[in-house]
Amino acid sequence: MPSRLPRKIEIHEVVLRDGIQNEKKLVSTDQKIKLINRLTECGVQRIEVSSFVNPRLVPQMADAEKLWSMVRRRKDVVYAALVLNERGLERAMRCGVPHVGVYVSASETHSRKNSNVSTAEAMMEARLLIEKAHGAGMEVRAGVMNAFGCAYEGNVSQAKVIKLVKDFLKKEPDEICLADTSGMANPSQVRKLVKRVREIAGAAPISLHLHNTRGLGLANVWAAINEGVSIFDTSLGGLGGCPFIIGARGNIATEDTVNMLHETGVKTGINLDMLIEASLQFERYMGQKFPAMVSHLTRSHS
Ligand code: ZN
Repeated sequence: MPSRLPRKIEIHEVVLRDGIQNEKKLVSTDQKIKLINRLTECGVQRIEVSSFVNPRLVPQMADAEKLWSMVRRRKDVVYAALVLNERGLERAMRCGVPHVGVYVSASETHSRKNSNVSTAEAMMEARLLIEKAHGAGMEVRAGVMNAFGCAYEGNVSQAKVIKLVKDFLKKEPDEICLADTSGMANPSQVRKLVKRVREIAGAAPISLHLHNTRGLGLANVWAAINEGVSIFDTSLGGLGGCPFIIGARGNIATEDTVNMLHETGVKTGINLDMLIEASLQFERYMGQKFPAMVSHLTRSHS
């Protein structure tokens, strides 16, 4: 049945951004550095280090500059950040960030709640950001949030997502990301949308940002890899959610995703045992049991 299963999947680790941004316990900069180093030792090759957002709105991200100055950058790892506006991009440029994510929401309501602008206005700004980031030598991921549905609006039409992707493609981003921000995607929908985006995206790789809100996270990964998607955002322990989306907890867990891929013969370059150890260590630091499943098979949380 699998027609074009990629031989290797790249994991884009978002625990330090999406994962913790909603957590009450502030993660110290030292702990973030430890986690970044541990993840790269496990073989994770892409890590979202921070977002450059208003520190008053997202206190977990307030140390972005300090964090970037402290990260020991390995040549074989992509260190990424998310930016929402020009001010954020300028901060990222000053930190020498090599890879930025720029997003537009396919839902008008979410767009207004998240960034106080319409989707069309957000797209205009995003396209300027891509241009400016490319001018600074950065790689850019252009993402569509709520590409599979919206907690506020319900269905999001495929035509709307495709239009946004086309608008992005005129600025030649290095990657197109489809984000299931509200955790509403299902495998059939993932297949259809990825297929459609592949037809228009040309050489730009497609990545998926999935949430496990309704338990369909890994089923959606499986659907997507069968359509040739080879980059997935995952969060250690399955931590995460969007502060501006009701009930949007739980990114797909890195260890559960890696486990499924390895079990099905797909490589990730990640050492799963070390990854589970890293997840359990971080779980102890956060003082809570994470939603990930494979980390909790053999031991109980103390
Ligand atoms: Zn997310």
